[in-house]
Amino acid sequence: MKTEGRPTSPTAANMNDVKTVSGSKALDQATKLIFETGTPRRTGVDLPDPKGRASRLGPHAREGEIGLPGLSEPETMRHYVRLSQKNYAIDLGVYPLGSCTMKHNPRLNEKVARMAGLSDVHPLQPISTVQGALELMEELSHWLMTLTNMPAVALTPKAGAHGELCGMMAIRARLDADGMSHKRRVLVPESAHGTNPATAVQCGFTVDEIPASGDGRVNIEALREKLKQGDDVAGIMLTNPNTCGLFETDIMEIADLIHAKGGYFYCDGANFNALVGRVRPGDLGIDAMHINLHKTFSTPHGGGGPGSGPTVLSDALKDHAPVPYVVKTDTGYSLVENTEDTEGSFGRMCAFHGQMGMYSRALTYMMSHGSDGLKQATEDAVLNANYVQASLSDVMTPAFGGVCMHEALFDDRFLKDTGVETLDFAKAMIDEGYHPMTMYFPLVVHGAMLIEPTESESKGELDRFILSMRSLAERAKAGDVERFKNAPIHAPLRRLDETKAARQPVLRWTPPSKVSEAAE
Ligand SMILES: *Cc1c(COP(=O)(O)O)cnc(C)c1O
Repeated sequence: MKTEGRPTSPTAANMNDVKTVSGSKALDQATKLIFETGTPRRTGVDLPDPKGRASRLGPHAREGEIGLPGLSEPETMRHYVRLSQKNYAIDLGVYPLGSCTMKHNPRLNEKVARMAGLSDVHPLQPISTVQGALELMEELSHWLMTLTNMPAVALTPKAGAHGELCGMMAIRARLDADGMSHKRRVLVPESAHGTNPATAVQCGFTVDEIPASGDGRVNIEALREKLKQGDDVAGIMLTNPNTCGLFETDIMEIADLIHAKGGYFYCDGANFNALVGRVRPGDLGIDAMHINLHKTFSTPHGGGGPGSGPTVLSDALKDHAPVPYVVKTDTGYSLVENTEDTEGSFGRMCAFHGQMGMYSRALTYMMSHGSDGLKQATEDAVLNANYVQASLSDVMTPAFGGVCMHEALFDDRFLKDTGVETLDFAKAMIDEGYHPMTMYFPLVVHGAMLIEPTESESKGELDRFILSMRSLAERAKAGDVERFKNAPIHAPLRRLDETKAARQPVLRWTPPSKVSEAAE
């Protein structure tokens, strides 16, 4: 706006280009690399050299400087606190990226996980001294089997992808035990998460892709065709709800078709948080499914903690579960550690017993919610996603009609002819204070924008987010292309060359050349 006789106020874009002497802006402190801040000769501690001790390192003793930066304690503290403030986090605001990185981690989980007896157990401790920990694992297994209506669960897999490996190895072990080793073809829908085909190949299967139908679900006619092409089908890997955020409505028919051909049904259960308390996978004909404790049961992930991917198994597969597993005996809990002591375990997936710290957090979440609370969390997650979808559907373009599950998927049709692309839109969200949603995934949708608000957002928070998204969509349509192409303008760093960063990452700091030193 121009007002006669008064200077025009600078626009947000050029305000941001104003340089300060210090490099800091407002109360945001400029941060250099720690190697540029500290020097090897400085130190935060003041310890005398040990007296009267001869080095026992012999020829292994280091000769030169190690070159690590030395800083005082306050400098070290400031460096890392400043870095942490550059992170966007679920504890700061809505995180529509979805999946595991943005779940609220209830503080009660953390309190329980830190209790003595849970946080300080060692995997090699005598069994008699860890009875409580084993009981916790047994109790968690009980909840997982009850919620899924499946007869067995392998707790040890350490991530979703690891759980897929567990399920597919169980399927392979079962096929081999039945003399069905010629069954090596696995059907995978084209919308699948990349880990599905990768897992199948890792297990020695070949992948046969099934196309999606127009409504974003598996094309069941194409599936029938694939099954007619031979009796070598080992099974299917199907995600439900799928990566378009939709329930696979033909899932029971799919299970029947696969079973009729002697194949097994692997379900990718990463999105089980949209089903807990409403649908039991065991009722749908599923033979194996991993559950991401870090997506469905609130355990921290995405920089905050390790994953955990317990895998439930059907009657047909349960004998092939990996060791070790907990069994309850007359005298307490014990562990089956050796495959010789089992009916046909395919082996061991990790050195010890899995992610104990995640088991205690997940069980805390389950018990503090109760079965009614878990169902409510599911319903809230689905309600929130549909609220976002419905509130934006007049200005943005939902990829498919009808209700969604826990995430709302938009395509880029609403940006047609605006000159603004999905990437620009996502970058402009940063200026509005929001981490971008998942973009360009799933691949079956053009310019995809996948928003997962989660169960823990209030209506007020969602309304604020929706308002920002609406205003961005309207600005894009009004032709404000520059604003989008320049975004983010308020972030400490502007548009980065992400392709170059991914292809040629500079992971190592090299000291500046010592020209000045040489001249001294
Ligand atoms: C997250 C996810 C996985 C993989 O889980 P990780 O714990 O990251 O290994 C697999 N499939 C789907 C659909 C997912 O969302």
